[in-house]
Amino acid sequence: MVTLTVCLDSLQAIFGVQQNFSYPGSQWNQRRSIDRVVRAEHLLLKDYLPSGLPDGFFIPADRDRDQKEEAMVIILREGALDLELQELEQFLSAYNVQIKPTVGEHTIIWGLVGDTSKIDIDGLLIHPCVKDVKRIQEPFKAANKKFHPEQTVVHIADGIDIGGGNFQVIAGPCSVETEEQITEVAKDVKASGAKLLRGGAFKPRTSPYAFQGLRAEGLELLLHAREQTGMPVVTEIMSAAHLPLFKDVDVIQVGARNMQNFELLKELGKQDKPILLKRGLANTIEEWLMSAEYIMAEGNQNIILCERGIRTFETATRNTLDLSAITVLKEKTHLPVIVDPSHATGVRRYVETMALAAVAAGADGLIIEVHNDPPKALCDGAQSLTPEQFDTTMKKVEKLRRFMETEINN
Ligand code: PEP
Ligand code: MN
Repeated sequence: MVTLTVCLDSLQAIFGVQQNFSYPGSQWNQRRSIDRVVRAEHLLLKDYLPSGLPDGFFIPADRDRDQKEEAMVIILREGALDLELQELEQFLSAYNVQIKPTVGEHTIIWGLVGDTSKIDIDGLLIHPCVKDVKRIQEPFKAANKKFHPEQTVVHIADGIDIGGGNFQVIAGPCSVETEEQITEVAKDVKASGAKLLRGGAFKPRTSPYAFQGLRAEGLELLLHAREQTGMPVVTEIMSAAHLPLFKDVDVIQVGARNMQNFELLKELGKQDKPILLKRGLANTIEEWLMSAEYIMAEGNQNIILCERGIRTFETATRNTLDLSAITVLKEKTHLPVIVDPSHATGVRRYVETMALAAVAAGADGLIIEVHNDPPKALCDGAQSLTPEQFDTTMKKVEKLRRFMETEINN
């Protein structure tokens, strides 16, 4: 007979009692010690104990709560052979995880305690005794709020931080076009309150015939605008081979199309500059955080995430701004999150409302495209605000931030 222990706060909240429960063990189970612990999500229990929670599930004793949580659960096939289980145990022994088996009437599950981030789910599923595998703990560690509860503050320059209560607006043209253009826009957006200047020198364009950016010359012009205004600059990198050109840049942007360019991410992990990591066109939040993890695993912890809209069936906007990503990320990670309403909507007249919505949702900043003459812009004119429009937007953003700080968040 085996004692099952359900160790989940939410279950305790649901049932409010502690009860002992005994279940007949299987062959496998009889070989194992008596005290079994299940630490599984409520959903998982519902899925794999189909008759629901049997009467008498043991809701956690404090002793159990002190134990380390299970990070992964393996659901075994009914009738799995001892030999198959031994092979699985052997496979897992390479990962330095503890196995906590739990036996139900028809289902045996193994909870794995320890660092499961290196365990490949496919590698488990090829074992004949494995029916399903669920991760309970996220596969990202460095970016995980659980292991790093304090908010990361990314320091950019004297008095310019992002995250942990520091809100910043980055503004400027989609691409650097001429010295006059970038310098003029820089002065305008600075006057309106933007603290960082954006401008692409290497542009990822869908068509190879479209303007590709001024490349090295564009970076020089951007740095010249920094000299003129004192604003730190943010610009996109497309290849690790260009890194030497970026040595004086303040923040390196990884664009949506490169979010999963893992070799590039690894190289950026070796830099000491802040990285603005945009969300991929069709990537999940978890994939995005795993990309941040690539950079962090190499050493660079200074990452700002940027939600810039994702591909959906909707065509009224260029992308669909996933505002819920902000709130999800705030729960999952300590990294700052900013929003790009320009690429998210693709339409100038929609930018302001989405910028305000992002502020209301708790974003740590905004990145907004501004052009001194949008109809003549070489790239993304349709979504670029004029300096006057940007100024109005900034005033509303400031008002809303004050309201949030004084009326809502207090
Ligand atoms: C950009 O910021 O100019 C850009 C190309 O953005 P994204 O990678 O989000 O499309
Ligand atoms: Mn653009």
